[in-house]
Amino acid sequence: MSTSRRPSFKALPGPSPPERGGGDRGLRFSLSRPPEPAPHGLREMFAGHLRELLDLLTPTCRGLDVRVDGFRMLNHPEAVRDLYPEDPTHRAEIDDPLEVYEPRLGYIRRLIESLLDVVDLEYGGRIVRVDGFRLKDPRQWLVSGGGAADILAHAATRCNLKCRFCYNDGGPPPFRPRPRDPDLEYRDVLTRIEHYVPDSGLGLFPAAGGPCEALAHPRAMEMLTELRSRTGETIRIPTNGSLLTPETIQALTGRRPVFLDVSLNSSSPARRRWLMNDPRPETAVESLAGLREAGLPYSVVIVPWPFPSIRIMLEDLEETVGFADRHEPAFIQISLPGYSRFFSDRPLFDHDRVWEGIKETVLALRERTACPLILRPGLYEEYQTPQAVNDPRPIGVIRNSPADRGGLRAGDRIVKLGGLAVQGRPQTRTLLTTLHRSELDRVPVVVRRQGRPLELEFDLRDYDYPYDPGTVGHLGIVFACAGLPTAWLENLRQVVTLHRAATVLLLTSRLVRPALEDMIRSHGFFSGLALHLRVPENGYFGGNVFMGDLLVVEDFVRAVRAFLDEGIGRPDLIAIPASPFHLSGWGRDLRGRVYKELDRRLGIPTALVPCDPIFD
Ligand code: SF4
Repeated sequence: MSTSRRPSFKALPGPSPPERGGGDRGLRFSLSRPPEPAPHGLREMFAGHLRELLDLLTPTCRGLDVRVDGFRMLNHPEAVRDLYPEDPTHRAEIDDPLEVYEPRLGYIRRLIESLLDVVDLEYGGRIVRVDGFRLKDPRQWLVSGGGAADILAHAATRCNLKCRFCYNDGGPPPFRPRPRDPDLEYRDVLTRIEHYVPDSGLGLFPAAGGPCEALAHPRAMEMLTELRSRTGETIRIPTNGSLLTPETIQALTGRRPVFLDVSLNSSSPARRRWLMNDPRPETAVESLAGLREAGLPYSVVIVPWPFPSIRIMLEDLEETVGFADRHEPAFIQISLPGYSRFFSDRPLFDHDRVWEGIKETVLALRERTACPLILRPGLYEEYQTPQAVNDPRPIGVIRNSPADRGGLRAGDRIVKLGGLAVQGRPQTRTLLTTLHRSELDRVPVVVRRQGRPLELEFDLRDYDYPYDPGTVGHLGIVFACAGLPTAWLENLRQVVTLHRAATVLLLTSRLVRPALEDMIRSHGFFSGLALHLRVPENGYFGGNVFMGDLLVVEDFVRAVRAFLDEGIGRPDLIAIPASPFHLSGWGRDLRGRVYKELDRRLGIPTALVPCDPIFD
């Protein structure tokens, strides 16, 4: 397979319904072919196929993984071919994030292209030129994803505003939104709705990258109508609010249940106009009252942007939180401001000063805000006090949720749920999720409030606006972050045992490291093991990004090389939490690179430690 060719992997829209042949409901994908046959097509083909397969599977022998870096052809057994002679990355940069989420499609595309490098296809004795392929049975490709909201996100490729901090502007190029013809997008969404299995949440390929403004699509309401006819689930819609006129709110009311995440950013029309280039900022500001009146639940999202000064940003944050709280959102989310090197190649602000200032303001605002105030990333609030990370103490309770009506308050420590003693936050959340989905009517709860035990009872059927059980789990209880499950340490232990490693380099993130070290110390799982923790830099994303889940293979390679330079010695195993490679379940980072590249490039066995993306 030729791997130097730049991928041109685009999902093409299916033909319009009248053009479709019987039973043809598949999605289509383009092929690229060089103008001339590739010079070493046949010789290179088998190596290419093998490399592709080794990025999708791991060969085993007697149940154990086998590392492969070459092969011999049976007709030339004396010649060993090196699979990764120069560049073990062997891949061109992806230009479509679907390569990350569904790499089997990329494999099929390159497989066909490589065959077309060495043969021509015929029909009736004549050469047939092909420039694409389609899926015969899309049902084979269903994967669990984000439900109805995810389908709508496929059409959220355009935005009517231009925020100063737009995260889509700052995304890596393959993940930037690329609007297509609205009618083609509409038909694409109809195909997805047709194949969607609401009960299991199975759908046709997840949406990739950050969605823009779904309501800016000219056929948004038609798509919502189609979705509503397919599923009764709550459709969650992120919106910048600029199109939430009384008429739009009325139209959404007819398509309930919906839940809106309104990026208000500022309640001051002048500042919102400046921040978001919104020519009619009053529409979004006034929409909160309209949503409340219409009984449509929503959250408010605020990105504090530290310009023209930190003081002005914090004053505006206080005003905006107060304004939003008066209109009864389910919760308010404050996203700490971030930017990548794709957004700015120079530092934009004093990161620590800005983030600390926002955190302190949010903690103070919680004292006088009725709805939960959530800081994102949530772990930032607690990571410097590791014991807090797993403490089952809510930071807020959603108004009129079963927990609120049952008397739970922010700061209570949950001790028992349904008669079961709880051990920490991850277990508490798991139990709450089970209760949330259960058919139970009432649940006894024991908390400690100001040091004293207190017995409560939650009526799981007793709730009202703005709580929406279809959107918010945990019976309305909000924690700062998900916590760090101790099961993760057990997974790490199993990986280490499987590799019979005595020296392990564990790569983690700045936010996780303190809690992880605390857990390792207190569990004593790893006595006798030389376990070294290091934190890679987010070199690929750059800017002020320091999130573990945004690390890519290249960042991990750099961190391992730096560790080797320390002179401590060569580890037997590199262990990495699976979450940076979790997007698709195919072990790929955000550039589409497989974690196995570390082993190929460094010659050190590398394993992913299973973990869900754990931090809210
Ligand atoms: S509303 Fe969202 S997508 Fe639109 S410009 Fe602002 S940040 Fe970007």
